[in-house]
Amino acid sequence: MDQDASPRSRPRSNTWGAPSDREALLVIAEDVRARTGFAVCAIEVLRADGMLEFVAIAGSAATGRALLGTASPLAAMTPALRLGAIYGDFTFVATEWLTSHAKALLAEYGHIPDLPDSSDVHRWRAEDMLVASIRDDRGDLRGFLYLDEPLDGLRRTDRQLSELTSDLALPLRALLTAFEREELAHRARLLSAAGEAVRRLSSRGGVSAFLDAARPYLTAGLRADELVFRLDNQTISENIGDLPQSLLAVIDRSARRCWEWGAVLIVESQEVWGDPSLSLADATALSAHVAARANRPMIVLPIGAADEFVGAVLFTRGSSRWTGGESVAATDMGQDLGRAVQLAHALDREQELIEELRRVDRLRNEFARTVSHELKNPLTLLSSYVEVLQDGPHLQSQETALDAIARGTLRLERLLNDLGTLSSVVQEAGAPLVPVNLNSTVRDAVELNLAAATRRGIALTSEVPKAATVVSGDAQALLDALHNLVSNAVKYSDAGGVVHLSLSRDGEQVSLQCRDEGLGISEADQRKLFTDFFRSTNVEALRRPGTGLGLPIVRRTVERLGGQIDVSSRLGVGTTFTVTFPAMATA
Ligand code: ADP
Repeated sequence: MDQDASPRSRPRSNTWGAPSDREALLVIAEDVRARTGFAVCAIEVLRADGMLEFVAIAGSAATGRALLGTASPLAAMTPALRLGAIYGDFTFVATEWLTSHAKALLAEYGHIPDLPDSSDVHRWRAEDMLVASIRDDRGDLRGFLYLDEPLDGLRRTDRQLSELTSDLALPLRALLTAFEREELAHRARLLSAAGEAVRRLSSRGGVSAFLDAARPYLTAGLRADELVFRLDNQTISENIGDLPQSLLAVIDRSARRCWEWGAVLIVESQEVWGDPSLSLADATALSAHVAARANRPMIVLPIGAADEFVGAVLFTRGSSRWTGGESVAATDMGQDLGRAVQLAHALDREQELIEELRRVDRLRNEFARTVSHELKNPLTLLSSYVEVLQDGPHLQSQETALDAIARGTLRLERLLNDLGTLSSVVQEAGAPLVPVNLNSTVRDAVELNLAAATRRGIALTSEVPKAATVVSGDAQALLDALHNLVSNAVKYSDAGGVVHLSLSRDGEQVSLQCRDEGLGISEADQRKLFTDFFRSTNVEALRRPGTGLGLPIVRRTVERLGGQIDVSSRLGVGTTFTVTFPAMATA
């Protein structure tokens, strides 16, 4: 071989195997060389990156030094090999068969011996090639073994060539075993390096930040082309090749089973491994998807911590098939990932909780400020009139003062009442719900407000369906809420007005309306209506006593019972409050 043949075009990396592995291959090469009567025997391995690397060269120390550890693309070899004659595992290519294209490629990555040229078809020529393709049991190419420079200077006869495969069966098998062992070790190293890196990543930033950080390590360790995470039956990051929702659901279920068995699901175009419980129909659908996508196998690595399934990493790999050995190492990584994701989840939740506590704390402070402000007004009023009383015995001012004190006391009483209701509405949040017939609630609310309405010259009417209108609720809380709406409607209406209550059921929905022809509420006020202590900006409305706590209480009750409250109103025309609840099936 010509040691000057542009070794620069073959990047040197020595990535394959440990020195002892290379030593073992050299022993095999020496043995083959001695047995076959060739001066040189060279071995090239096909690496995962598609490059061929010289790993042993027997018979030429100089060539060995020049070429060992250098790599060339497989594509540079194939045109020459296609021109050859095949004898079992061996291919013989005569110099005169080479096209200029094939020659140019070989010359570029050069291993052409320096032999005198001859036109004798029996003599070995400089560019003659005798190569064994080393394939694994699946037929995938793993490397080449070259024989070069026959000691007798002659080409081998057809018969000799035909016998080479069986003559060299043992060393060729030994080569394959060495290649496969190293490949496994290499994959395990990649995987455990990735696992190590993932273990060191912080879960502090939450789940998505953690997954973003883990992605490059996983992609390298699993040698994945595309990689996605499935957590809580959702795809984090983009989908793999438009997997339809139905297949994702199949994958999620299968990943959960695989997690329990400590297995990895492997989907190839012809077969699916790892989940014996997968139905034939599901397996066929998964395989068909892979077949439709250039047969790139898809691997589903379940992730979880201890007994808890967390999700899966889905990836495709075009370069080489997934091996059982990798599954073992990958399952460990699934554990590491699962623990980290769970931790990140917990930290996410903790962060949310802190936010919620801060919010509640803010609301509480705001509420306390508002309550003390609201209490201060009537108290100031009371104490100033008490002073008036203490000051002097003017009958006139005494009467005014007593009136004001009575009003102030009433207001304080109302405020404290409403505050009490507000806190009980909040506390009852967990109270059990029972079926409540709203027909009775409407009747009771009318009864409670009839006297006040009549006193103020307001007609109070109602309309309920014949059949019971049942919702899941809390009878007293519902009556309190409706009473609140009706008493507001009466309070903010004037003599001659009508307050009408109506109850109706529309399929799954029950709707309760309280309509009045009173003062109405401006649009700006409508937006703030359900805020604690909000009272209208309407001067006429403000003349009528109130605390601004009624509607917030109603809203809390309605929402606690799974309902919703809406208002529609026009200033000077009237107001309608509509409460809707999901209906309960009636017997
Ligand atoms: P209040 O105790 O002041 O009535 P609410 O929370 O019940 O407190 O109501 C808040 C404000 O909404 C009231 O101050 C009033 O201005 C307005 N409001 C409520 N109901 C009606 C209604 N039916 N018609 C007109 N205004 C209303």
